Amino acid sequence: MISKSRLDGKFGKYGGKFIPETLVPAIEELESGYEKYCTQRSFREELESLLKNYAGRPTPLYYAKNLSRYVGGAKILLKREDLLHGGAHKINNTLGQALLAKKMNKKRIIAETGAGQHGVATAIACAVLGLNAEIYMGSIDMSRQKMNVFRMELLGGKVHPVKSGTQTLKDAINDALRDWITNVNNTYYLLGSAVGPHPYPTIVRDFQSVIGREIKQQMLEALHRLPSAIIACVGGGSNSIGSFHQFINESNVLLYGVEAGGKGIRSGEHSASLCAGSEGILHGMKSYLLQDEFGQILGTHSVSAGLDYPAVGPEHAYLKDTKRVRYVACNDDDAVDAFLLLCRYEGIIPALESSHAVSYAMKIAKKMNSSDSVVVTLSGRGDKDMDIIMDYTKPGTRKNKRDDRKT
Ligand SMILES: *Cc1c(COP(=O)(O)O)cnc(C)c1O
Repeated sequence: MISKSRLDGKFGKYGGKFIPETLVPAIEELESGYEKYCTQRSFREELESLLKNYAGRPTPLYYAKNLSRYVGGAKILLKREDLLHGGAHKINNTLGQALLAKKMNKKRIIAETGAGQHGVATAIACAVLGLNAEIYMGSIDMSRQKMNVFRMELLGGKVHPVKSGTQTLKDAINDALRDWITNVNNTYYLLGSAVGPHPYPTIVRDFQSVIGREIKQQMLEALHRLPSAIIACVGGGSNSIGSFHQFINESNVLLYGVEAGGKGIRSGEHSASLCAGSEGILHGMKSYLLQDEFGQILGTHSVSAGLDYPAVGPEHAYLKDTKRVRYVACNDDDAVDAFLLLCRYEGIIPALESSHAVSYAMKIAKKMNSSDSVVVTLSGRGDKDMDIIMDYTKPGTRKNKRDDRKT
């Protein structure tokens, strides 16, 4: 079924296609390509087979008994996207879009990346599908994330340093868009989150919705009921919208999106676009942005690179205004606490991004009773975050140091 948002790309007043005229043909070709293939049986089957046999779906829904007992209250269940090939949910989207590109006969794939996670996931998908990956990355990000640059190159990708602006993610997106305008004929732009002009927010949501479909099925199989709440972290918003989509009409299921509160909302050093931002236009969409009174984009901060983006997908903006999803922020210290707890109690090293969701899940689980269940999407694994955790847990680094935890 084709919903209204599919046609005009609007989520209430958000979303849309705020693009230069030169980009219109590329976007129109993408729209019709996606409409053609997304319902085609052979496309769906090929993608399902890749997700199952290559990426490792379905991922387990794991009842974290030890953590639940420690917290007291509701059962906490973890949707283990960290166990996917590549170590995060991003591959659900890159395999889907790379396959779409191949069907559309585009052999050259371009992508943007911040910390490098989406770049790596893109290079993986392109390698397995025989496509060429070219990835735009800010030169500051490149020097901060040398290992991911090396990974992309090993996987056959070519990394273009971006030296304009702040030399980080938002500038990389601008350069990738410029490349696309120039090379529309043979090039597919593989966007990494549920952001950008229509149809990207819809495409990325559709490919990530496998997370929520599995949660629903696994909850019904294991506990014969839907969860009381689902909680996911929000950067651009892809793992969260993928987790929520199947449950939007299930009004008994509470939905929480957790943004990066950084050093606290009041400090101004955060990436909480929904909690602290305002309406504006960036990267082809109308949504909530972190901007000053003149519409200039503000600098962002988070201990987790994957949440460090000054905007958010337009569907989340709509879900915030309609109050179907509650958006909250979790600061760096609390995310690191949750990270350490999950390591200690469950033997799982989560991504720092996902740790934001774990932290908030513990907060609400505590207030519920044992017949309730809370599903947390563990969007990725934390091996990439070792250096940050090592620095962060050095004595004197934390703002509110706590050592009352049993070891
Ligand atoms: C990229 C990333 C995120 C944030 O991106 P969304 O589009 O908001 O999902 C969250 N967790 C992990 C592990 C990531 O790599």
